[in-house]
Amino acid sequence: MRQGDKNKNYHFLFNNQLLGSQNMSQVFNFSAGPAMIPAAVLKKAQEELLNWQGQGTSVMEVSHRGKYFMELITQADKDFRELYNIPDNYKVLFLQGGARGQFAAIPMNLIAEKGKALYLNSGHWSATAAKEARNFAEIDEISIIEEKGGLTRVNRLDFSDIAEQYDYVHYCPNETITGVEITEIPNVGNAVLVGDFSSNILSRKLDISKFGLIYAGAQKNLGPAGIVIVIVREDLIGKARKATPSIWNYEIQANADSMINTPPTFAWYLCSLVFKDLLAHGGVDAVAARNLKKAELLYSYLDQTTFYRNTIAKENRSVMNVTFTTGDDELNAKFVNEATAAGLQALKGHKVFGGMRASIYNAMPIEGVEALIAFMKKFEAENA
Ligand SMILES: *Cc1c(COP(=O)(O)O)cnc(C)c1O
Repeated sequence: MRQGDKNKNYHFLFNNQLLGSQNMSQVFNFSAGPAMIPAAVLKKAQEELLNWQGQGTSVMEVSHRGKYFMELITQADKDFRELYNIPDNYKVLFLQGGARGQFAAIPMNLIAEKGKALYLNSGHWSATAAKEARNFAEIDEISIIEEKGGLTRVNRLDFSDIAEQYDYVHYCPNETITGVEITEIPNVGNAVLVGDFSSNILSRKLDISKFGLIYAGAQKNLGPAGIVIVIVREDLIGKARKATPSIWNYEIQANADSMINTPPTFAWYLCSLVFKDLLAHGGVDAVAARNLKKAELLYSYLDQTTFYRNTIAKENRSVMNVTFTTGDDELNAKFVNEATAAGLQALKGHKVFGGMRASIYNAMPIEGVEALIAFMKKFEAENA
C-alpha cells in the first residue's frame, strides 16, 4: 500500500469514529481482538506522540524508570483500582506474553510440584487454558456446557462440594468465540477461583474479593495487544515453582513494579489513557449500562427474525461478543462481504465456530450497533 493511501484510510476511519452517526460512509470495527480503542484515546495519543510530557520525545523513547513513566504507572494502577473497585489486598501486575502466557504462568505460580487444579470447560478458551496447564500439573476438567434444543447453555456453577481439594478452580466468564458469558460467579467454597477475563474485563461491575486471580489480555477491552493484566490476591504471591521464568513470577514482578525487564511501555501508556477515558465518562457503571443497552438492541432484533439465529441460551448470551448465523455458509459469506463494503468491518465469525460475530466491547458506540441492525434488516429484506 502506498503511503498516501494508508494515510487516507487512517483519517477516514479516525474522522468517522469521531464524527458520530451522521456520515453514511461511517466505519465501525467489530473485530474480536485486537479490537476498537476509543477514538478520544487514539486522538490523545496522536496529539502527544511526538512530545510527551513536554520532553520533546515520545513515550516510547524514554526510560521506563524515569520520573514521568513511573508517574504514569502509579496513576494507571490507581485509576484501574478505582474503576474496578480492587481491594487493597490485591496486586495489579502489567505483564507480557498475553493471556496465553498466563495459561502457563498460573499453574507455575499457584500449584506446588504435586498439586492439582480444576478447569471448568465452557468452550475454546477455557479448554485451551486447561491444555496448557496440563504441561505443568495434574488438571481435572469438567464440561459445564450442554446443547439442548439447538441452544448452548451453562449447566453447572456450584463446585463447593469438590473445589477445596484443588489449588485453584479456573473458568472463562466470557467465551469470546461462541459468545457464551457466565455472569454468575461460580461457587467454589473457600477454594481459590481464577478467571480469564480477557474479553469482558471492565465491561461490568465485579466483586473482585470472590477471586484469587483475574487476568486479561489487553487487546479486547483495555487497549492494544502486548500487555496482560493480572489481579492477584497477595496471599497467593510467593508460591511460585523454582523453574518459573522471572518475567512470569508474580512475586518477582510484584516487587519490581512489573518491571523485572523492559515493559511494553507504549501499550501500558495506551491502557492508562483508556482508564482515564472510562473514568471521565462515568466509570464501569456507565459503560456497563451502555454495554447492556447495545447487547439488548442486537439480541432483541435477532429474536424478532427467523432469518438470523443466535444459538446461545438467553441467560448465557455474551454482552461483548454477539454471534449469529443465517444457517447457510454462502449467505453468511455474502453477508460479511456486503457488510464490509458498507463499512461494518470484521464481522466474520471465528473459524472454529463459523457464522458471524459482532464484538461490541466497551469502545463500540451505540451508533455502531444501530448501523449493524439497519444493515441486517436490509440484507434480510434482500435475501430472505
Ligand atoms: C483472546 C483471548 C485469549 C488469548 O489472548 P492472547 O493475549 O492472544 O494470548 C485468551 N482468553 C480469552 C477469553 C480470549 O478472548
